[in-house]
Amino acid sequence: MTTSEEVVLDVDGLRMRYGTTDVLHDVTFQARHGEVLVLLGPNGAGKTTTIEILEGFRVRSAGRVEVLGTDPAHGDERWRARVGVVLQSWRDHGRWRVRELLAHLGSYYAGYSTELIQRPWDADELVAMVGLPEHADKQIRMLSGGQRRRLDVAIGIVGRPELLFLDEPTAGFDPQARREFHDLVRRLAEEHQTTILLTTHDLDEAEKLADRIMILNGGRIVADGTAEELGQRIVGEDEVRWTRDGQRFMRSTDESTKFVFDLFKQYGEAIADLEVRRSSLEDTYLSLVHQAESGLSEAAAANNLVEVDQ
Ligand code: ADP
Repeated sequence: MTTSEEVVLDVDGLRMRYGTTDVLHDVTFQARHGEVLVLLGPNGAGKTTTIEILEGFRVRSAGRVEVLGTDPAHGDERWRARVGVVLQSWRDHGRWRVRELLAHLGSYYAGYSTELIQRPWDADELVAMVGLPEHADKQIRMLSGGQRRRLDVAIGIVGRPELLFLDEPTAGFDPQARREFHDLVRRLAEEHQTTILLTTHDLDEAEKLADRIMILNGGRIVADGTAEELGQRIVGEDEVRWTRDGQRFMRSTDESTKFVFDLFKQYGEAIADLEVRRSSLEDTYLSLVHQAESGLSEAAAANNLVEVDQ
């Protein structure tokens, strides 16, 4: 087995019950060394609960969970030093300066270096990595919201974690900060082989970052694969839209060329505003979540001829 095939997260039959309500049912997945895994799902799907169990902050009701080979419910300090968590609680340390806080927090990791990983990150290098070099000597209370989020990320990785958890990391980022953050995530995965599990509501972000995407809905995994694989669960369904006599139509089909040809043969010049669109991750996501909720079969959903309301 090569290093890149090492299983870093191993979750099998995970269940979580609050009172009499099950919020995670039989959740099973793995993540491998250096993989970026994106967890998608509507509010209340169980994403935070899953992440907090993996982080060791909540105790599961049932199932087997191994994080870096250890049950997080029994993780010791050495284990914790290998795991990075991005929290949003550093607003309280307003009088600390950016570099100073990172150096201070980093010092806790110094005893946990290994042959391969020198801990912690050098504070200046880290400040540059998250795009805060001009703010290194600023007090935290003087930072903007976006700059504080970058600092949150820096704090999450100061110990050079092998595994990093990011719960909606780019919420509140402006487009530039978002792009820089995406570069950082890819660099951590590619150059430092950090395994990353992140949640987001931004499907473009998921598509850009994920080696693999999992969709959680109602506490169950309803899809797991690359963005391309998830796309293929709904495609080869292209979406064809057109108008005829002022009315708008939409049809999902896996043979869009033939469909359009037949459409013109039948209606000729009465067809206008023709548009053929390949399925996007957003379509796949909405469709899978909708199917899971309504119990519709994929075939039934795809074969509907839909007249689109204006
Ligand atoms: P997500 O992060 O996907 O929005 P959560 O993991 O926060 O979902 O929540 C999943 C479900 O568990 C929700 O129905 C939520 O109301 C419920 N839940 C979360 N935390 C608790 C708790 N401490 N006690 C009871 N129910 C909870």
